[in-house]
Amino acid sequence: MENRRIRIGIIGGGLAGASIANSLSRIPSIAIDVFEAAPEFSERGAAVGLALPSQRALQELLEDAKETLRKAQSVPIASSRFMLGSGPHAGTVVVDFGDAEKFGAPELIVHRASLLRELLAPLPESILHPNKKMISIVKTDAGVKVYFADGTDYEFDAVIGADGVFGTVRDHVLADEAKQYSASPAGFWDCRVLVPFEKAKAVLGEDLFKLDRQYGWAGDGAFLLHDVLENGTVVHCVISAVEHESPPDRKHKLTREFLNKTLANWLDGPIASGIIDLVLEQDDPRGYSEWEHKATPTYARGRVCIMGDAAHASTPFQAAGAGQAFEDGMILSALLGHISSPDDIEAAFKVYDEVRRPRCQRVIDSSRGTGLIMCGRSEAGLDPEKILQAVAPRWDFLNLDLKSYVQEAVQKLDERLGA
Ligand SMILES: Cc1cc2nc3c(=O)[nH]c(=O)nc-3n(C[C@H](O)[C@H](O)[C@H](O)COP(=O)(O)OP(=O)(O)OC[C@H]3O[C@@H](n4cnc5c(N)ncnc54)[C@H](O)[C@@H]3O)c2cc1C
Repeated sequence: MENRRIRIGIIGGGLAGASIANSLSRIPSIAIDVFEAAPEFSERGAAVGLALPSQRALQELLEDAKETLRKAQSVPIASSRFMLGSGPHAGTVVVDFGDAEKFGAPELIVHRASLLRELLAPLPESILHPNKKMISIVKTDAGVKVYFADGTDYEFDAVIGADGVFGTVRDHVLADEAKQYSASPAGFWDCRVLVPFEKAKAVLGEDLFKLDRQYGWAGDGAFLLHDVLENGTVVHCVISAVEHESPPDRKHKLTREFLNKTLANWLDGPIASGIIDLVLEQDDPRGYSEWEHKATPTYARGRVCIMGDAAHASTPFQAAGAGQAFEDGMILSALLGHISSPDDIEAAFKVYDEVRRPRCQRVIDSSRGTGLIMCGRSEAGLDPEKILQAVAPRWDFLNLDLKSYVQEAVQKLDERLGA
């Protein structure tokens, strides 16, 4: 009994669940199972941008992260240009984020499905359980029992909830407070489409495609973005805009009338009309409300914890969501790899909560604030100089000495365990 492996159930097989599963599977004292509600492990979104801090976190989590990213065909962004898209300075370059080290701009962009595939590739199929929707968790004398919609149940020493922004594990962890701290609209909606490269070039103009460059356009009430993916064959176009009222099902149909109204002050500028045309060419284009966790009183209860979007869903304006999930995994793996008995799991999860929650909350608040600046809704207005001053330092706090961060967490655990 003394030497048996610690059994951990991971609920949710998105980027958070897959990355921690990959990391924990390398620790000999731990046995894992991963449960995904969907019929297969898959990522529905288009691309995910990994800023330098996110890449560093993945590297800290998985020593072969570079190889994983290479196999997932991630594309380095040679250059990222931040422009004004509306107002008196429309067409002005605010800054070239060429110096990613300084600005933390997304330096790698990767197709979500490919990254997920590579994170899961080293795991044996026997521990991956698709079509398993978790419905409830019950504390038992031996650990935690997890019940699934298909009538099955499994017992573990601990459970990690990586089941996304509307996840069920969060409800278990927050118990009576779950409703009070559930996700809520962040005040923005967005729409993301993939367009053939030649089509985007024809509609948006050749000048924007001379380099494989990412363009972000700040303007009145909205932020537009386009970047080149998949070896220069596909262009990813994004409209995000300020949202005053979130529709009940979190999505709404996009019509020309609605987009022309949203981007009314952009239409005589260099970019909005073209992006609107590209979006409306899609089948059934929709805008999706961005939801976030405004506050969370704890990430752990007993032998159950939450990570990734289940713990700290955020707006995408600092491209930090996936990176924060990797940091969660990095800390959890270090703490769980440090203990030898299931009796110490609760202490490990308490330390995880203590070191991760303030940082993740800061990301949520900072990302929302960055969105407001980019949508011309801050004191900087649409003044290029003021926008640059407001935006440039916002990535600084994300650059952390991750090795020291992990060491501090392990030290805190030792203190708790009286080691
Ligand atoms: C529009 C948008 C753009 C973004 N852009 C970026 C970006 O450029 N860079 C970046 O770093 N981050 C970005 N993010 C954030 C990033 O995508 C997320 O932080 C990250 O993907 C979180 O992954 P996750 O695994 O925690 O959650 P999810 O991807 O939501 O995965 C949760 C998984 O759990 C499963 N699940 C749910 N309930 C159950 C259940 N009961 N039982 C079993 N399984 C269940 C779901 O099916 C799903 O597969 C963006 C987010 C959005 C919304």
